[in-house]
Formats: sequence, C-alpha cells, structure tokens
Amino acid sequence: MKACPFCAIDLVTVELGGKNRLACVTCEFVHWNNPKPVTATIVPMNNGIVLVKRKFEPFVGSWCLPGGFIEAAEFPHESAEREVFEETGLAVKVSRLLEATAPGREINVIIIFYEAIPVGGSLVAGDDASEVACFEQNNLPEDIAFDLHRQIIDNWFAGRIAVS
Ligand SMILES: [Zn+2]
Repeated sequence: MKACPFCAIDLVTVELGGKNRLACVTCEFVHWNNPKPVTATIVPMNNGIVLVKRKFEPFVGSWCLPGGFIEAAEFPHESAEREVFEETGLAVKVSRLLEATAPGREINVIIIFYEAIPVGGSLVAGDDASEVACFEQNNLPEDIAFDLHRQIIDNWFAGRIAVS
C-alpha cells in the first residue's frame, strides 16, 4: 500500500508504537499491515485425508490442504467449510480447531487449522485445484506445498494434537 485509501495521497513513514508504519499526513489513516487470516482444513476420508493439487501460484502442481482467505464478516469455521466445499466438492462440518499459528518469515498471514468431517457431496476438484484425492498416512505426496501443512498433517496422523 502506497497511497491513503481516503485521501489518495502518498503515505509517509512514521514511528508509532515502536515500529515504523506508513501513515497519512492529512487524515488519521495508518496502514497497520495486519496479517490476513486464512484457514486450512484436514478432512478425514477413506482412512486418509483429502488434499488438493494446486492449480495456481505459489507452488503450482504441489498438494496442500483445502483452504483459503476468510471473507468479510465470515466466521472462521464457516470459511473453512466453504473453502473445502469450493475446492473439493465435499460438504463438511468443522469438528475441531487444531491450531492457530503463523508461518513467520514475513509471510503476513495467520493460519487457522481445522478438522472437518464430510457430511455430503463427492470429491470433485474445484476451480482452484487441478486434482483432489485422498491420501493415507503411508502414501502422502512428497511435494506438499507448505511446511505448516506438512507439520499439521504429520501431527494429525500421529495423534499429537490435543483435543480442544
Ligand atoms: Zn488520508
């Protein structure tokens, strides 16, 4: 972000709360650069879990958990259920929150991991995915797109996630 969304003039760097921020000199606007929340969901199925093969950057052709950005005024669990349906064709109900964390490395997102149980629909790759499939613990794909997805998948199969 370079310009004030209200005044359309260039933002300037100011120190606020001990950090440099971009702010508007005319109005009160500060670009806080807060992280965007995303969900990613483990859907147990056929003795494994559902993964989608990515159709778009980053990591085209790699596999990952279904998920995406939370939309305006959406509850996080609803967002997770919507994203799973859009990407996999499965209607699901969130069964539990697994973890909320961040990737670090200046990737400005908060990732909320859920587990969700299929309640209808059938596996069909959505617009964002080139393929969708179930994988058992012993045949997970080598190329899982995100380190945090790989970690939560390993922890989930190993039963290392506390019940919440
Ligand atoms: Zn302004």
